[in-house]
Amino acid sequence: DVYAASPSRYDTMIYRRCGRSGIKLPVLTLGLWHNFDGYKSFETARAMVRHAFNKGITHFDLANNYGPPYGAAERVFGQLFALDLKPYRDELFISSKAGYDMWPGPYGDFGSRKYLISSLNQSLKRTGLDYVDVFYHHRPDPETPLEETMSALDHVVRQGKALYAGISNYPADLTAKAAKILRDLGTPCLIHQPSYSILNRWTEKDHLFDITAENGIGVIVFSPLQRGLLSGRYLNGIPEGSRASLNKHLKSNLINEQTIGYIKALNEVAQKRGQTLAQMSLAWVLRDTRVTSALFGASSVDQVDENLRVLDQLNFSDEELREIDRIAEP
Ligand code: NDP
Repeated sequence: DVYAASPSRYDTMIYRRCGRSGIKLPVLTLGLWHNFDGYKSFETARAMVRHAFNKGITHFDLANNYGPPYGAAERVFGQLFALDLKPYRDELFISSKAGYDMWPGPYGDFGSRKYLISSLNQSLKRTGLDYVDVFYHHRPDPETPLEETMSALDHVVRQGKALYAGISNYPADLTAKAAKILRDLGTPCLIHQPSYSILNRWTEKDHLFDITAENGIGVIVFSPLQRGLLSGRYLNGIPEGSRASLNKHLKSNLINEQTIGYIKALNEVAQKRGQTLAQMSLAWVLRDTRVTSALFGASSVDQVDENLRVLDQLNFSDEELREIDRIAEP
């Protein structure tokens, strides 16, 4: 079963420039946090990645600890890469990260130079890549000096183990500081990865996208579907195999009378626009052109395909936006 990428893979995807950089990213990125662990079907994972790339999704998002177990998603991606994607390496933009809990002891968490550099070396081994395209610090570390963490990013870029540096989950004030340190080191920050969705608007209250824009940093937003809530997945209960059916924490936090009320009302707005709730939720985060890409997860090729068809309708009328805010103004 030899994979040949579709010759039409660049015909429909839209690419946006990532901040003030040379890089353009697809407005949709596939994240490998869930469904690429050692347990779910390898063939489904493989089919999703193939389909995504066939439709112009050149960007795949990883982190050291995606699984479970930690490292599993990078290993699975490594297998897919060796089997299918290797001939296309220069057409692909692959990320990894370190910053959350990864290995025991004082050196496997947060933001030391020791942790970041060792972790990226591990990620390269697991994925079989010579380099990642972007390496992120995954979350702020309140104890390690920011200079140490940023100089570790600068270092791996100079070594050629990563082509660009990124930060994730940084609030606006810390983003401005990190951007300045990286700029002074000569490795400008390419990208910021915060969470953002119709139901999660902390970045707006924090004015994060003003700061990223001022600093020429692109933005890729994660969980635009609020982990599956902003889709058709839970409109009629909690289906077998869904993330909420497998995760009690998600179930109790996400699926309650209030959120089900929101998604039913939002679903009607989506239907009036002639798209699904998942598609409207992706279009909604992309309505701000400072957002370079929407980073979604999926558990089937059908979901990837449905999400890709957001490209048919990215625009909103002012009235539609007001209606969405009336339903789900946080
Ligand atoms: P999403 O909000 O995109 O949720 C994805 C889930 O939604 C899927 O697993 C699936 O659920 C469901 N879904 C997707 N498409 C559809 C559809 N068309 N119809 C119905 N259900 C659908 O985000 P994630 O939380 O998965 O995060 C996306 C990526 O963001 C991660 O893979 C990771 O790369 C990154 N991330 C980064 C973080 C960070 O700290 N930087 C933190 C979290 C994520 P189901 O599996 O139940 O079918």
